[in-house]
Amino acid sequence: MALNKEEQLKLEKDGLDVLHDIHRYAQEGFEAIDPGDFIRFKWYGIYQQKPKTDPYFMMRVKIPGGMLTNEQAVVVAELGNKFGRGLVDVTTRQAIQYHWLQIQDMPEIFDRLAQVGMSPIQACGDVVRNVISSPVAGLDAKELFDVRDLVQAVEQKFLSNKEYSNLPRKFKISIAADPRDLGHPEINDLALVPARLGDEVGYHILVGGGLSAKPHMAQNLNIFIRQEEALQVIEGVVKVYRDHGYREKRNHARVKYLVADWGAEKFREVLEETIGKTYTRGGERVQEDWNGAYLYGVHKQKQEGLNFVGLSLPVGRITADILLEFARVAKKYGNGDLRTTNTQNIIIPNVPDANIDALLQEPIIAQFTASPKAFVGHAVSCTGNEFCNLALVETKERMKGIAEFLDATFPDFGAPIRLHVNGCPNQCGQQAIADIGLAGALVRRDGKMIDAFDVSIGGGLGKDAQFNRKVVLKVPGDQVQYTIESIVRYYTEQRTEGESFREF
Ligand code: SF4
Repeated sequence: MALNKEEQLKLEKDGLDVLHDIHRYAQEGFEAIDPGDFIRFKWYGIYQQKPKTDPYFMMRVKIPGGMLTNEQAVVVAELGNKFGRGLVDVTTRQAIQYHWLQIQDMPEIFDRLAQVGMSPIQACGDVVRNVISSPVAGLDAKELFDVRDLVQAVEQKFLSNKEYSNLPRKFKISIAADPRDLGHPEINDLALVPARLGDEVGYHILVGGGLSAKPHMAQNLNIFIRQEEALQVIEGVVKVYRDHGYREKRNHARVKYLVADWGAEKFREVLEETIGKTYTRGGERVQEDWNGAYLYGVHKQKQEGLNFVGLSLPVGRITADILLEFARVAKKYGNGDLRTTNTQNIIIPNVPDANIDALLQEPIIAQFTASPKAFVGHAVSCTGNEFCNLALVETKERMKGIAEFLDATFPDFGAPIRLHVNGCPNQCGQQAIADIGLAGALVRRDGKMIDAFDVSIGGGLGKDAQFNRKVVLKVPGDQVQYTIESIVRYYTEQRTEGESFREF
């Protein structure tokens, strides 16, 4: 089998084995770093920041299920202020991302995160990544059961586990027991979704979803998994991928390609052989309408007298000082916890009824509102060329500007239209599931290459999950807001009563 460069590097030295080198480089400096180790740094959540010649890094820190304690939030913010020029981005996998870190900062960052039970280990690399969940797991009155223990058990099972530290590519897991698909199951390599078998509630297993240049929807293996069986099945799926996944070409190595070739039936057969157990066929997936995983406003929790409050972080970018302020109000009015969402927003949970009014009066809540405008409140962006070496175009400021323009142009727009932007085909901004998606490209104008975007419409998850389709190609960046304005205007003029953008 012809192995690609990354596969060879992994065989020479496992990604997890780069830790002692990171500590050494922290002493010796940026210039001492072996080029192969830059790739292995990803196993510790570390990416080279753009441009690669500068000695700066990005780091993702995992937040399994988006569940952040007060102590953790404070440490994340303090590290952002001390080392990351005060920037803290919330990602579409409920993680946080720092920028401007230097190699000598890493030991202290690792130590301080570890002191509060956090880690960047396996936030990137060919491993099981941050496990996502419903951002309101354990709180949501609609969920069938609480998945929080399973999310943490999966995190512990794979963390620094050499059995699974050399997968063919990244592996993304979503675990949720809510019927609204708040964990975006269809676009994960493996998703556990709620199901019923008679009176029993458990999971259905979906495999082979993923975005990137060739998006695939995950397929249902149509087996009923009891809650106590879930961890073993998850490990089994990862084992099947590790042992049978493709390793020749990086762009053909995700489990989605194996599932597409095998089909759900063969994958299930190999999974059961691998685990040595046969699972009950059938059961019924429990699924209601998808709401895009937006949870703005004040919502009653399943715990009597408590509420969660969903707030908008435009394109997921805040400062460390803002995070500290969220931590302060969460402690004053709730129990101190925060939740990050896969739509790059934040939730303050566990707020007693009596504290809601006072919480909503806090200046930070006026700024990062519980009732955002239609477009800014539903805009998602990847990192883009501000920091990302793969990016073709700038994304965050562009998307914020477009959303603000649309909110000003359509001030009374009721139903949300979800806008997503990617700076390259990798889809960290998940543009394929957007109502209106923008994919960065370059176009020549007056002899110079400038930012442009392919515009796609009609994506979404839930019962009628589908990826969006391209409708306009390579629109120059300074024109794209007008292209979207035309699309939105056409929709507002032509839609029938109550027709959503997706149905249009
Ligand atoms: Fe970078 Fe591309 Fe991911 Fe955006 S989608 S953060 S440009 S790799």
